[in-house]
Order: sequence, then C-alpha cells, then structure tokens
Amino acid sequence: MKKLIAGNWKMNCSLEEAKLLIADVINGVYQNQALQGDNEFVIFPPFIYLPTVRHALGNHTFISFGAQDCSPHDKGAYTGDISASMLKDSACTYAIAGHSERRKYHCESNADIKAKAEQVIKNGMTAIVCIGETQEERDGGRAEEVVQKQLFESLPAGAHARNTVIAYEPVWAIGTGKTASETDILMMHSFIREALEEKLADAENMRILYGGSVNPENGPGILKTPNVDGVLVGGASLKAQDFLAIAG
Ligand code: PEP
Repeated sequence: MKKLIAGNWKMNCSLEEAKLLIADVINGVYQNQALQGDNEFVIFPPFIYLPTVRHALGNHTFISFGAQDCSPHDKGAYTGDISASMLKDSACTYAIAGHSERRKYHCESNADIKAKAEQVIKNGMTAIVCIGETQEERDGGRAEEVVQKQLFESLPAGAHARNTVIAYEPVWAIGTGKTASETDILMMHSFIREALEEKLADAENMRILYGGSVNPENGPGILKTPNVDGVLVGGASLKAQDFLAIAG
C-alpha cells in the first residue's frame, strides 16, 4: 500500500503564496521519481484556494487534493457551510472530518464528525477522520480510552478501507514541536488497528495516519513504524521542500 502524505495548509497562504506552494510541490514530486512510486500526496488548501490547486494540478496523477472540513448537512439554509456535494463538484477526492482544531474552536462533537464523514463518503470521496487525546488525558492514563471513544463514535456508517482513513493526532503534538515517540505511535496505532478489527471486516487495510509536528527529521522514521500508513502534516506542509522530504 502506498503511504499517504497529506498536507493540511490550515488557514495559511495568500493566493499568490498558494500558487507558488502548489507549483513547488508539483515540481518537487515530478523531479524525484523515487517519491512517485511509494507515496500518494494529498493537499488540503483552504476552501477558497481549491480551484487554484485544481487548476495547477491539471491532469497530474500523483497528487490529489481535498477540503479541510465539510458540512454535516446535504444542502439548505446553513450560512457559511460548504457541502460535500460541492466539494465533489470541485473535484475533491478527500475531506478531513474532526480535526482537533475543529473539535476545539468549533465545539464539534463525535456525532458532528460522524455526520460530516458520512456526507463525505456518501458523495464518493474519502473521509480522513481525526482522533487524538489531549496532554491532560494522556497524563491521566486515559489516552486509549479517549481515542477509542472518538474512533467508535466518529466512524461513519458504511466505513471501509477505501472510503475512510483514520488520522491519529495527539492534540499535544499538533503545532507544538512535540512529536509522539515512535514507540508511542506504534502502541497507539496498533491499538487503533485492533479497535477497528472489532468493527470492520477490512480493518487491516484501513489506512491509519499519524499527525503531530511531523517534519523532515522525524517523518521518515515515523513512516517506517508498523501500522503507520501515512502522515498528516500541518506546519511542514507550508514549505514544499520540507513536505516532500518527509516522504524520504
Ligand atoms: C495538523 O494540523 O494536522 C498537524 C498535525 O499540524 P502540525 O504538523 O503543524 O503539528
């Protein structure tokens, strides 16, 4: 299975910066044949730059793109929301559901995230469902309990390995420069795999990504860790060279 290398630009970049960044990512991937064979790259720009990224990518096949969020609703009077069908129309193939910043700043519950992920898969895209414990929860010895609850309550109905990806992102590691150790990642990813096996027939094929201060130094080691099928990268995805160096 190819490693999924996902870049979440969050609410960064001017339009000009977005154009330059996607051009640099495309050039970097096409100049390095080794990157193409083993990896699938996905870019998550802000909604407003989706057409820009789509235009820049043209017919390129090694890089896809998606949205950082989507509405839990089909359509209608939901001012400011973007529906999954609109994302599909805009050629997105992925959408993130339940990033911890959405859980925290927009008070999204597991039920909200499940509804969003269900919209994503209903519209033929792949949902990346994010889960992860806070520092306080880890210190309290509750990391696995919290992660399992989020996983079971956020997993969309009808999830399978081709329409859903899990991203384990410990909240304390996001944007902090504190990365989980390879041992901690191994233990939690194995735990998530086992939990998925309780629910899904094809759990062994479901991709589980790690996210949290991944960078060119720690990325290659994390990607070699068993049960790590890719990475979700925030800060380091804003520099094409750093983003691609994570893939080795
Ligand atoms: C993220 O936004 O999902 C993330 C992991 O951010 P960072 O890589 O900056 O920690």
